[in-house]
Amino acid sequence: MRLTFWGAAGTVTGSMHLLETGGKRYLLDCGLYQGRRKDADLRNRRLPFPGNSIDAVVLSHAHIDHSGNLPTLVKNGFTGPIYSTPASIDLCNWMLRDTAHIQEKDAEFVNKRLEKRKAARSGKDNGNGIVQPLYTMADAERTLPLFQRVPYREPFELSSTLTYEAYDAGHILGSSCIVMNETSGAAPLRLTYSGDVGRPNLPIIRDPERMPPADYLILESTYGGRLHKQVEHVINKLADVVNRTVRRGGRIIVPAFAVGRTQQLVLLLHQLFNEKRIPNIPLFVDSPLALNVTQVHRDHPECYDAETRQYLTDGEDPFGFKRLQYIREAVDSKKLNDLHGPFVVISASGMCEQGRILHHLRNNIEDPRNTVLITGFQAQETLGRKLVEKWPEVRIFGEPMRVRAEISSLDELSGHADQGELLEWIKPMVHSLRKVFLVHGEPRQSEILAQLLHTRFGLEAVCPAPGQSFELA
Ligand SMILES: [Zn+2]
Repeated sequence: MRLTFWGAAGTVTGSMHLLETGGKRYLLDCGLYQGRRKDADLRNRRLPFPGNSIDAVVLSHAHIDHSGNLPTLVKNGFTGPIYSTPASIDLCNWMLRDTAHIQEKDAEFVNKRLEKRKAARSGKDNGNGIVQPLYTMADAERTLPLFQRVPYREPFELSSTLTYEAYDAGHILGSSCIVMNETSGAAPLRLTYSGDVGRPNLPIIRDPERMPPADYLILESTYGGRLHKQVEHVINKLADVVNRTVRRGGRIIVPAFAVGRTQQLVLLLHQLFNEKRIPNIPLFVDSPLALNVTQVHRDHPECYDAETRQYLTDGEDPFGFKRLQYIREAVDSKKLNDLHGPFVVISASGMCEQGRILHHLRNNIEDPRNTVLITGFQAQETLGRKLVEKWPEVRIFGEPMRVRAEISSLDELSGHADQGELLEWIKPMVHSLRKVFLVHGEPRQSEILAQLLHTRFGLEAVCPAPGQSFELA
């Protein structure tokens, strides 16, 4: 068995690991690399292998940094199956099309600008000076029929000597850790891929499942060097932020990932309204993707934890209540700006890089009565990261704006295990593991975790470089 790390090696995005065994080639995830535009574009376009050289893909979960480059693989000749859990596949149905739409819009925008400048020569020149989208809606729609549903905890035969089983990762709806079992060698070999490891007590979804022993482990390390605050405190903090802003007569602007984070916030606000701990102000979820993704959450109660199941037993919709309105049309989104009095608006994108949240930020960030509530991981170079770092001035749509609104963070809702939770998660495996490959982390985070795995458990942990291969036997 040979393993090559092509993505999320020394970085947090673009997960893509190649597994070669028994004459076949499998990809574990095929994610979009997100970062500085030019660099990202180049990495996403140039796959390090022909698409038709891959036999099958196993997808850990629907987040775009794990699934978002599948249409490029298909565009490059891949026609094999993509295996994942039913909930992940239903999420990908919306997310891949949404990403394709963004790619098309981006290319259109750049082309317009190029036209204006009459500087039509660039690295992505196709001869007419036109920038092509990374992939189109048609590429995304050719990808979707390749998905095949493999439920949690049902061993699936990839070949006569290789099976895999999906364990609940407790990260987002449908997220899984992949356990690969190979039986062709002298002794059976087990490789586990963590995908993204979630956390205990997150709203809606179940806690990460206890993992079986394994020989080798590919482990994410997003927060390998950090500890989160306890999830239990999040509801009090959310109540405080809402009440404080309402007293000032301000609005609460919440950039949130359409998948997972939006649904968690809705559920927590629902609980606060029910308990009368926050005033009766309007709540808007302003994102067509979030609306579609929320429907996928409604369609998959098999992924819920006990608390969320209770809502169903009580005859309540956990993702909709009296004060909540979902906004699909852009014209209704614009109307929010003329609304008087306090309200909460949850909108995408989560890192404030694109989408409707930019309009809400532009309209509200200079008013000290308002609050911008950051709810998730903010990658380097993003507007969200600058807000968290309390830059006094930021650029939105190219215009400089003074940050006068309160900036608050709810780190507690992070979907990623922190250092302590990763160490806890790995415990059932430490006696059998021969090597751990640390991926999906900024180098400092991975190095801290590697050191800790060594001192705490005597494990050999390596941080592979992009393109580096390892023989597993
Ligand atoms: Zn993820």
